[in-house]
Amino acid sequence: MQVTFLGTGGAVPTTRRNTSALMVRREGERLLFDCGEGTQRQMMRFGTGFSVSHVFLSHLHGDHVLGLPGLCQTLDFNDREEALAIHTPPGTKSAVENLVGVTGARPGYPIRVHEVQPGGIALREEEYEVRAFETDHRTRSVGYALVEDDRKGRFDRERAEELGVPAGPLFSELHEGNAVELDDGTVVDPEQVVGPPRPGRKIVYTGDTRPTGATVEAADDADLLVHEASFGEDRSERAGKTGHSTARQAADLATRADAKRLALTHVSSRYAGESDRLAAEAREVFDDAFLPDDGDGIEIPYPDG
Ligand SMILES: [Zn+2]
Ligand SMILES: [Zn+2]
Repeated sequence: MQVTFLGTGGAVPTTRRNTSALMVRREGERLLFDCGEGTQRQMMRFGTGFSVSHVFLSHLHGDHVLGLPGLCQTLDFNDREEALAIHTPPGTKSAVENLVGVTGARPGYPIRVHEVQPGGIALREEEYEVRAFETDHRTRSVGYALVEDDRKGRFDRERAEELGVPAGPLFSELHEGNAVELDDGTVVDPEQVVGPPRPGRKIVYTGDTRPTGATVEAADDADLLVHEASFGEDRSERAGKTGHSTARQAADLATRADAKRLALTHVSSRYAGESDRLAAEAREVFDDAFLPDDGDGIEIPYPDG
């Protein structure tokens, strides 16, 4: 699973940082979290590809959604046929439909807008789900957690052979969790040859928010927490007033959630050229905090390698 930071800036873009967008690629599928103005050009610049299947919006402030009409139009020019699903906070469906349809042009592919429920499941796929959780901003907002299912335990081939199981279809039966009967009548149970289920990965994206308990819960043991860090400690009062977080607050939260890594994003344009300071403030509290630049990508390995 690969995460690309397409836009790491706050409400106002700078030459270095575009407005919010995050791309997650998993097994050939592309999920986009927020879509600030210019996101489609960031996708081109950083080579993430365009075939997004789902867009997850954290809230309807312009710096998170104004890239949608342009992206949807380009997908149409590319002769896209498959549906695009847009997931959005409660009560915002018609605003998103208006935004996407603002030019009056109707794309040749279906666009489906779904309102998500905080605490509910926004998307369920075969091997993972995306859950929505409540955040605390100045408007209806949610964060998202991409949570993979547990994977099957490791299959102990040597042990299976010792027990007399012939290599072939019986191996897969056992790995699928079914007992098998050998020619001599012996029954082999899956527990004898398959290890315990192995955890999947978890990525959490907050969008704009003050620090919240719901985020701590959602980010429990996350492999990557992408938390907004609009401000440094020098503007902590402003962060609270405007529904944002400081880098240090994000780091506190990552510590409480026992997350493995913390990416700080949505950096205010006030910190242009000195964003290292925010990363340093976070690292005083949480070692594995970093502040990505636009275009940075990281691979998220399985916890057990
Ligand atoms: Zn924002
Ligand atoms: Zn906002």
